[in-house]
Amino acid sequence: MKSCKFKQILCAAVAAATILSLSACVMPIKEEKNLAAEDAAVMVANAPVVSTQTVIITGKTVNVRSGPGTDFSCIGKASKGKSFAYLSSKKNKNGKLWYKLQFTSAKTGWVSASLSKLVGNQTTTATTAAESTTVTATSPLTTTSHFYGSERITSKTDPSGTTTTTTKAATKKTVVIKGNPVNVRSGAGANYKKIGSTSKGKKYKLLGTKKDSKGKTWYKIQFTSSKTGWVISTLAYIEGEKTSPTPKKTDGKVAYLTFDDGPSVNTIKILDILDQYNVKATFFVVYHSNMKSRYQEIVKRGHTIALHSYTHDYSKIYKSEKGYYNDLNKIHDYVEKTTGVDSKIIRFPGGSSNTVSNKYNKGIMRTLKSSVTKNGYYYHDWNVSSGDATGRNVKVSKLIANVKSGVGKKKVINVLMHDTGKSKRTTVEALPSIIEYLKKKGYSFEALTTESVLIQHKRK
Ligand code: ZN
Repeated sequence: MKSCKFKQILCAAVAAATILSLSACVMPIKEEKNLAAEDAAVMVANAPVVSTQTVIITGKTVNVRSGPGTDFSCIGKASKGKSFAYLSSKKNKNGKLWYKLQFTSAKTGWVSASLSKLVGNQTTTATTAAESTTVTATSPLTTTSHFYGSERITSKTDPSGTTTTTTKAATKKTVVIKGNPVNVRSGAGANYKKIGSTSKGKKYKLLGTKKDSKGKTWYKIQFTSSKTGWVISTLAYIEGEKTSPTPKKTDGKVAYLTFDDGPSVNTIKILDILDQYNVKATFFVVYHSNMKSRYQEIVKRGHTIALHSYTHDYSKIYKSEKGYYNDLNKIHDYVEKTTGVDSKIIRFPGGSSNTVSNKYNKGIMRTLKSSVTKNGYYYHDWNVSSGDATGRNVKVSKLIANVKSGVGKKKVINVLMHDTGKSKRTTVEALPSIIEYLKKKGYSFEALTTESVLIQHKRK
């Protein structure tokens, strides 16, 4: 990357605040076939369980879709605080959890669990507690069986990769708590309401098991004589069975690692480190000649390739709206041609809160922020900065310290780093320590998608 002083100054700015929102519906309407398959699934899913649960929207404006995934058509929008009757849940092929809800009296819809929360209790109406159906997938199905502990679990996987697990829990199994204290929740996941707390050595009757959206197993227990609850399996064990290894806390904390301005001579090194830790990240790329294979490698290894700029030249990009789109379209089309990815995820050079753009066109950022959103793009700033753009090869210890101080108590973090070659060698060197630190703090790592939480700087 050619040297760019403005960029370095701007990229160093730390996010002022976080705005969570979701922008406009952009997906074209699809035919009815998705709905048909999904309705079949719900009939089965609803059979043994009566839900008194409610889905409350937590994102600012959330797309309601015809199926559990961003590739389903958008059938409407729901704003923050609205609540809907919960119908069922399902993980899509990317492992993301979606909730089905009663959208209108006549229509059902789906929202991403990352932008909503489930409240209330689920009551099992099956005649015995020995059997519980947890998730049901669409047909056609393939069925596999295996043993989990001494329980028989039947898993069904449909072509989209959604897994159904039906547990035949033995009636006389006992869950022993090994953590201290352990939260008891209303559902199988850390995002469910805490209904109580228990402590080491306490024993409960096992009612069932279920995996949450992060793949963690939860035990359903008879918490009190009248109440059931869920505990995470890493903090408890089933009496008489081998104990699971000691847990790592996640608490639903998510880290989005982001690398701007690449690809570069560092790209492969960064990818190797990410692979080593089994971590997915996001690369906001610019155009560089002779680096085709690196753009492709980012995608091949399962990361998100996102758009930064073709030229990274502020005098062109921020001169006018037209100038901005000329540049954005060029990098969009280059990435699409090179990798096959039609990316809708962007980061403005300098971030959306940059003020240098005023030099070229006063107020242009306000125009661009609303314009890109209307045009179906999702723009991301950051709320943790490594500070690697404040100079050439900023000390590794300084980069790590910057991340640590930036993280604070944030639940969702978007960490800004750069993939710009020789001057950012220390970013590569600091990366393993940064990942280890965040893992220790309980973050799970995700690459950005169009459904991800938007970390956006406050309007200036
Ligand atoms: Zn940049």
